[in-house]
Amino acid sequence: MSRFFFILLIGALLPCAATAETSQAKLAIARLDCGTIQVNDLNVFSDTDAYLGQTMTLVDGCYLLRHGDEYLLWDTGLPAALKGAELSATGPMAATLGKTIVEQLAELGVEITQIKTVAISHYHFDHIGQLPEFAHAKLLIGRGDWEAVTAANPAPNVSAEPFKQWIDGVASNVEVVAGDKDIFGDGRVIMLAMPGHTPGHMSILITSQGERALVLGDAAHSPVQVLEPDWVSRADMDPALTRQTRRALLDRLEREEIIVAAGHFQAPGFGKIVRLQGRRYWRGL
Ligand SMILES: [Zn+2]
Repeated sequence: MSRFFFILLIGALLPCAATAETSQAKLAIARLDCGTIQVNDLNVFSDTDAYLGQTMTLVDGCYLLRHGDEYLLWDTGLPAALKGAELSATGPMAATLGKTIVEQLAELGVEITQIKTVAISHYHFDHIGQLPEFAHAKLLIGRGDWEAVTAANPAPNVSAEPFKQWIDGVASNVEVVAGDKDIFGDGRVIMLAMPGHTPGHMSILITSQGERALVLGDAAHSPVQVLEPDWVSRADMDPALTRQTRRALLDRLEREEIIVAAGHFQAPGFGKIVRLQGRRYWRGL
């Protein structure tokens, strides 16, 4: 197992001590536990009633990146107010949080003020819940999502409230990203535009020591949606664009060696697409 992948798995924020990277800023990543979502009615994710009567437990992952002396937080998970919440079996979904991001940062020896950049995959409640704690940081957000949260009347599934400090100008440091963005300018941490689930949905591609890891956000919630790109759900804002994005993703994963982090799939959720006897499979790592 490679050192880079080992770092991903254990969730420790260790520097990559790569000889090839001695002239570059050191890069490390840690997965944070940003909550659990009990889906009591999985059918809300199907547009063909494929999951009638089924339930599922989803995890919620956030990621802390260290690039040289800079820290970046990718997604902010469920709201801190859900810490310790009981998981109700009534209603389509229930959510809870074990530890807040701030508590997990403290365990890693990282001060909240050291997070200079918060980049988000998209505006859904389970990806931006703890955003208000990071109003001191620069916010990176896809253009389509920024337009949705700043609309006069945001749509019902658009969680605009956590963005309030940036929208009101109290936290003025926001960068609206159109297309892909090379965050640190060295080609190793790239925000990839993957629209469809939301209009400005972003994933993040991280390269270290010749290996690449793609943190999907909800470009695909699970390996099934990676393997079956046409299986969109009611949670996907634009079904046609979602299919197009997921087809391009699968095509790329078949051509290139990339570790994938499916953030809602059982922790840690890392895997690869492999082909055996003409069929594609998800191989968990
Ligand atoms: Zn989502």
